[in-house]
Amino acid sequence: QTVLDILSIRKDFPILNRKVNGYPLVYLDNAATSQTPQKVIDTIVDYYSRYNANIHRGVHTLSQEATDIYEQARQKIQKHFNAAKPQEIIFTSGTTHGINLVANGFASFLKNGDEIIVSALEHHSNIVPWQMLCERTGAVLKVIPMGLDGKLIMEEYHKLLSQRTKLVFCNHVSNALGTINPIEEIIEAAHKLGAAVLVDGAQAAPHLKADVQKLDVDFYVVSAHKMCGPTGVGMLYGKEEWLNKLPPYQGGGEMIAEVTFEKTTYADLPHKFEAGTPNICGGIAFGAALDYMNAIGFDAIAQYEHELLEYATKELLAIDGLKIYGELKEKTAVISFNIEGLHPYDIGSILDKLGVAVRTGHHCAQPIMDFYKIPGTVRASFSFYNTKEEVDILVASVKRAKSMLS
Ligand code: PMP
Repeated sequence: QTVLDILSIRKDFPILNRKVNGYPLVYLDNAATSQTPQKVIDTIVDYYSRYNANIHRGVHTLSQEATDIYEQARQKIQKHFNAAKPQEIIFTSGTTHGINLVANGFASFLKNGDEIIVSALEHHSNIVPWQMLCERTGAVLKVIPMGLDGKLIMEEYHKLLSQRTKLVFCNHVSNALGTINPIEEIIEAAHKLGAAVLVDGAQAAPHLKADVQKLDVDFYVVSAHKMCGPTGVGMLYGKEEWLNKLPPYQGGGEMIAEVTFEKTTYADLPHKFEAGTPNICGGIAFGAALDYMNAIGFDAIAQYEHELLEYATKELLAIDGLKIYGELKEKTAVISFNIEGLHPYDIGSILDKLGVAVRTGHHCAQPIMDFYKIPGTVRASFSFYNTKEEVDILVASVKRAKSMLS
């Protein structure tokens, strides 16, 4: 049933040919960062080989070329996420930057006693900035609790909402468990009370295509490095009316209309939020990564990754003492597991010796680990370039680790 030509796709990723500790690399840490296809690598090389220049202010040819191609990348991102206007796409250094930009801006709107709601399934980057915001403003942080199935308890969310709620933050997909959160319901209910919603799409964007207008979400943030692009670049989508209301996050060049020592006026969107020289090459490569993934197709990617997930789940669960956390099926291709009596770090270290890259630990989501009363998990996260054969190697390696450690 496989819908993708995996062998030909794998040829696009030079790193997949390398060996680790004498074994062929089996890269199953895609939720931390994805690998980079040759087309994106070529885009980076091409930028530095042919038209590296600062943008938006040069009259010379190289600067104009770089500006045009950077702005084309913004339009590709706009189209991909179906934003209404290119100026609603702000280039950031990644998800963390996007969240901090919004949190910082809201500091000027919130007052003592206002409430903001986060989910129990968040990455630290979608917890800590809000705690810092609460400290600055006197706002109160409320948490939507989760169940053992790794899902948010939505009745509790509806109970938390009130006239005091000003903001709601939730990830679209949990990085620790792969849970796909009911963000449509979260957004609709928040909007009924006039609260804004920021969705952290870092883990969703590699697997599914979000339509920000259909979702009616106020802010959506992603990192390019999780979707075949380079590190150090990402996007913040914000509804134009919100971005106009928010104050700038950083001051500097590029973000001004006029500067005098008496008063400075700010540039229009998107430049108001893009102080300083941006990651020009990164933004352009982000556009190339979206082209690459869209050429494969997100429906085909989702279907294939789901096949891998089902197969890996069945094979791993056949191992005695192995427990998978959260939902088994209705999620993206992430499997977070432990083996009774063994420490996840020890399992991960042996897997590495066998060439298998997984993540171990709390996955920057300590509250989830506390909820399950565990120090961490072993997390295998799949991408469309992984194969069934690699799942077999993972399973065989986990069995080997188990027999070595028991
Ligand atoms: N949110 C989620 C759900 C994530 O998985 C990650 C990355 N692990 C982040 C935020 C932070 O992304 P970045 O480090 O690229 O800013």
